[in-house]
Amino acid sequence: MERDAGRVDVLIAGGGVAALEATLALRALAEDRVAITLVAPESDFVYRPLAVAEPFRVGDVRRFPLRPLVKAAGAELRQGSIAAVDPDRRVAVAEGGQEELSYQVLLLALGAVPRAALPGALTFRGPEDGPALAALLEQALEGQLRSLLFALPAGVTWPLPLYELALLTGTFFTDRGTTGLELTLVTPEEAPLGLFGSRASEAIRELLETRGIALRTHSTPMSFEEGALRLAPEGEIEGAAVVALPRLEGPRLAGVPCDPQGFVPTDEYGRVGSEVDVYAAGDLTQFPLKQGGIATQQADTAAASIAAQVGADVEPIPFKPVLRGLLLTGMVPRYLRAQVGTADSVADTEALWWPPAKIVGRYLAPFLAERLGLPETPPRTGAEDVSVELELSVGEPESTLRRITTPSRTTSSRITARPALVTHLSSFGSSTTTSAGGSGDGPLAS
Ligand SMILES: Cc1cc2nc3c(=O)[nH]c(=O)nc-3n(C[C@H](O)[C@H](O)[C@H](O)COP(=O)(O)OP(=O)(O)OC[C@H]3O[C@@H](n4cnc5c(N)ncnc54)[C@H](O)[C@@H]3O)c2cc1C
Repeated sequence: MERDAGRVDVLIAGGGVAALEATLALRALAEDRVAITLVAPESDFVYRPLAVAEPFRVGDVRRFPLRPLVKAAGAELRQGSIAAVDPDRRVAVAEGGQEELSYQVLLLALGAVPRAALPGALTFRGPEDGPALAALLEQALEGQLRSLLFALPAGVTWPLPLYELALLTGTFFTDRGTTGLELTLVTPEEAPLGLFGSRASEAIRELLETRGIALRTHSTPMSFEEGALRLAPEGEIEGAAVVALPRLEGPRLAGVPCDPQGFVPTDEYGRVGSEVDVYAAGDLTQFPLKQGGIATQQADTAAASIAAQVGADVEPIPFKPVLRGLLLTGMVPRYLRAQVGTADSVADTEALWWPPAKIVGRYLAPFLAERLGLPETPPRTGAEDVSVELELSVGEPESTLRRITTPSRTTSSRITARPALVTHLSSFGSSTTTSAGGSGDGPLAS
């Protein structure tokens, strides 16, 4: 497989989360055995999760010039788009068909395409929809809207941004002394953020209640027309406006197998179909959870497989996802963690991982933290070994959150993100906004 100075040519299609994580992992694991080229159309890496904070003016979407970022990660950037792959000839065909990029190993990390799924609603896809949401908030501040609905259409597997938008809206109006605006979150989920397990769900249910946000579960929003959100299996809810998340579709690249939704099937090592030299990671894969932390774990899995394939002393490890989510609430954020497919479920107001980023990537998170001048190591170590249970009593204000630490595998203690540090991190992972009166709701805001 080797050629040219003994290096294997790895082509990574994409310049987002999975592509960067895979580059960093591959450089760490395969070292000089690989020459890595990334091909992506954009000139900036956009840290999209903070898009939810921008309309409320409590955080900015971070942008990193892509070329120097890719270089620092140990690869070369080719600006452009891939339109097709010919696995037999081991070439990726660039958009327009003029150019072919040859590879020895190909990693597809093209992400997914967001599509509006709820007619009549404002679909929040990311930074591009921030101004429309900000305009809606303005209208509500001026008293033109009395109720806002936050709706999760069927088939959206990463609902966390919708909860953030609802909670941040609540805090936004409380901070401005606006009362009487009804907020309702409508979701087909059985329990709020049920994918994080029952403990996290209960904590989120209580949080919504404390913030005065009504919750309607088991209800699939279908369309919004003339002030009514139609639901399946039945019923409707009145509202002045609806904010919804998009449904994702796969990129459908010619020459690459995909399912009817355009997503690429992979095995547990990240390989595409029966191709030995083609891998895929991130939102474009068939794995149902479309989330940055999952994308990085898939990228790590694929990178380990590629490293082993090129002769590095690395044991490929099958993909075993852990779901981590940092929920911005307008006050103290919530750290949520679940082992996918098990009952393991944790929610906490203090960092459960480090750096306390929205997108958790073994290599990417510290790499970006370094570029932001953030400390690479926590004040104390071992957060991932600590199991923490969050307990809330009905009707209690958030400031009385109680945490119970259950026995951990190690003697290490939890991480306490100090206020100064969290203020610094507000541009990265956490929101430090306090509610009217500056009460905050826990240690991070004190
Ligand atoms: C508002 C919002 C909030 C979010 N919040 C969180 C959160 O809190 N936590 C979390 O973990 N995740 C969150 N996510 C999800 C997270 O951003 C994605 O899951 C993650 O970016 C997926 O990584 P990816 O590499 O698969 O795709 P992307 O990061 O989307 O990267 C895809 C890359 O492929 C490139 N590309 C596309 N087509 C081509 C082509 N034909 N040729 C070459 N390059 C191409 C794109 O330009 C891009 O560089 C959020 C997303 C949004 C929109």
